Amino acid sequence: MASSHDPLYILLLGAPGVGKGTQAAFLTEKLGIPHVASGDLFRAAIANQTELGKLAKSYMDRGELVPDDVTIAMVMERLSQPDCAGGALLDGFPRTIEQAKALEKALAERGSRLALVLYIRAGEATLLERLGGRWTCRQCGAVYHERFNPPKQPGICDACGGELYQRPDDQPETQRRRIRVYLDQTAPLIEYFKERGLLVEIDGERDVESVRQAVEAALEPVLGGRV
Ligand code: ADP
Ligand code: ADP
Ligand code: ZN
Repeated sequence: MASSHDPLYILLLGAPGVGKGTQAAFLTEKLGIPHVASGDLFRAAIANQTELGKLAKSYMDRGELVPDDVTIAMVMERLSQPDCAGGALLDGFPRTIEQAKALEKALAERGSRLALVLYIRAGEATLLERLGGRWTCRQCGAVYHERFNPPKQPGICDACGGELYQRPDDQPETQRRRIRVYLDQTAPLIEYFKERGLLVEIDGERDVESVRQAVEAALEPVLGGRV
């Protein structure tokens, strides 16, 4: 039986642009665990001009996945930091079966496991519409949409005053590539986690608030009296 002191690992799964990062922003606060987004970790490495950043950029610019070994090592290093002692909200990792197996193994070694996989689903037209209007804060990573979730002042982050930019991999051609890569390499995880009884499916076509409510409802049975 899980106690309220056990680390809590929750995974957000879904196609690029479906709204994982947007939901993570409120979830991380509600759950009191850090948001660990592999894409954010790669972008930080690029900004810091590390070797990892240089390698990752060459894949990200093409809309392809960074190789499993580098990705797994990077996320595991992040999960071993003290602020992740109580668990983590994983976003964008795992993205392949190999990554999922590495994660399960690492959690099992700590006597832990994934508590839930929140699979957010939306059609390709919705994904393209969302990716096309996405603006991201250079400073804090907050995500906006020029029509669906605009900042109070264009180009400026509500949360920290940082500059908003459009990600280079949100160009139309790269968007399509990323969605294809998702269908090919990441979508098999849906069945994988379903077989393990961990998957909850969320309708991601609705507005941010409706999706948030569905996510909260899905978390109820896992959290119980925990928060
Ligand atoms: P989105 O949330 O729009 O899907 P991410 O920020 O999660 O985008 O990822 C951006 C890019 O970073 C991906 O297209 C890929 O190149 C790389 N990336 C992120 N997470 C992973 C991962 N788990 N495995 C391999 N590559 C990844
Ligand atoms: P992901 O992390 O899955 O790639 P994001 O959270 O970055 O997706 O969202 C992609 C874009 O869609 C952002 O511009 C965000 O503001 C917007 N968005 C997120 N969720 C919704 C929603 N439910 N309805 C409309 N737009 C949304
Ligand atoms: Zn910001």
